[in-house]
Amino acid sequence: MHPALLIQPDSRFIHDIMVSGGEDLKKCMQCGTCSAICSLAPEDGAFPRKQMLEAQWGLKDRLVGDPAIWLCHNCGDCTTYCPRGARPGDVFNALRQQAIEHFAFPGFLGRLVGSSMALPILLLLPALIFWAIARLSPASGMTQELEFASVFPIPVLEALFFALSGLVLVIFWIGLVRFIKALRDSGSGSIGVSSLAAALVEIMAHKRFSECTGKKSRRTGHLLTLWGFAGLAVTGTVVGIGSMAGILRTPLALTSPWKILANLSAVAILVGCLVLLVDRIQDPVRRAATTYFDWFFLLTLTGVVVTGIVSEVLRLGRVDQIMFGVYFVHLVLVFSLFLYAPYSKFAHIAYRTVAMAAARGGAGRNGLAGRRQAAADGVIRQ
Ligand code: SF4
Ligand code: SF4
Repeated sequence: MHPALLIQPDSRFIHDIMVSGGEDLKKCMQCGTCSAICSLAPEDGAFPRKQMLEAQWGLKDRLVGDPAIWLCHNCGDCTTYCPRGARPGDVFNALRQQAIEHFAFPGFLGRLVGSSMALPILLLLPALIFWAIARLSPASGMTQELEFASVFPIPVLEALFFALSGLVLVIFWIGLVRFIKALRDSGSGSIGVSSLAAALVEIMAHKRFSECTGKKSRRTGHLLTLWGFAGLAVTGTVVGIGSMAGILRTPLALTSPWKILANLSAVAILVGCLVLLVDRIQDPVRRAATTYFDWFFLLTLTGVVVTGIVSEVLRLGRVDQIMFGVYFVHLVLVFSLFLYAPYSKFAHIAYRTVAMAAARGGAGRNGLAGRRQAAADGVIRQ
């Protein structure tokens, strides 16, 4: 006879899942249809049915340390076929949000970013910073040249954004160390350089998205956004360092290779975001499943590229009446995107990469390579 298993449900966790988009969680009757449908489920396993049961029981520690919640890419196939309308895809989305909040440092910021009530406060902080820079900067009014630098001095912006990048990297690091510890505690596998590299390659190609029977445009939208963001990250870093070292002078000429790459990257993100937004708006099921957590990231990112492109057009067209105002909004949104990245849906990319690497490490260590999706794609372990 098996020893008795004492379950200690976390009712607060169940409540948080339900208010984060998983409100139909309790409709699950454990029929297993989702496990038969999901292309990630091993043939002899119970993914995602098992996680649905654990969520119903409020087993928070098990779920936040389970890499499987990150291997799900929210294709929605299980939600479409669930006979009870329990919407397992949306429950997994809510679980990922809860995991990000759980590992976030400091914890209160994780809760603030997840709450629509806190949005004015979150935007007020960067707005005050850039207002102060515009008002107090020694460069204010010192030049008649129609450049953003005449109101927002480049050395001040460079110092601010490099400091912000360092801070965000440290915050991400703390959250991911906590996550890796939780993965180890749950015996979910080890993370090596090769498994990390393989996970990154998989994410950059978004291979699993092509296996979904749902809308194919999601993969296009995600890929354009991801690659566009990578392009902007590279150009932003190179141009920022080049400018501080005195090698590059901003604003760059339109014919500069770095400017071309930056503009192409911005257009890629814009098209990708529009594809994702149209998908969500046109499809009533996806629209209903989209939470504030999703909108916050998607609309902030869209706002960053729209205001960036409009600022550049206004500068080139010398429309000085409004260009500084649009650029101000652009700076506020860029700052918000980065500062709140470890607590928003942005953090998915970091947590998903680590979880996929852990799943691959787990497959090798435990000899589960025979399972479906094992070894080649990262695994769901039961
Ligand atoms: S989530 Fe739906 S399909 Fe999956 S086990 Fe529960 S009731 Fe069945
Ligand atoms: S949303 Fe897609 S990947 Fe995630 S559990 Fe459901 S079927 Fe599997």
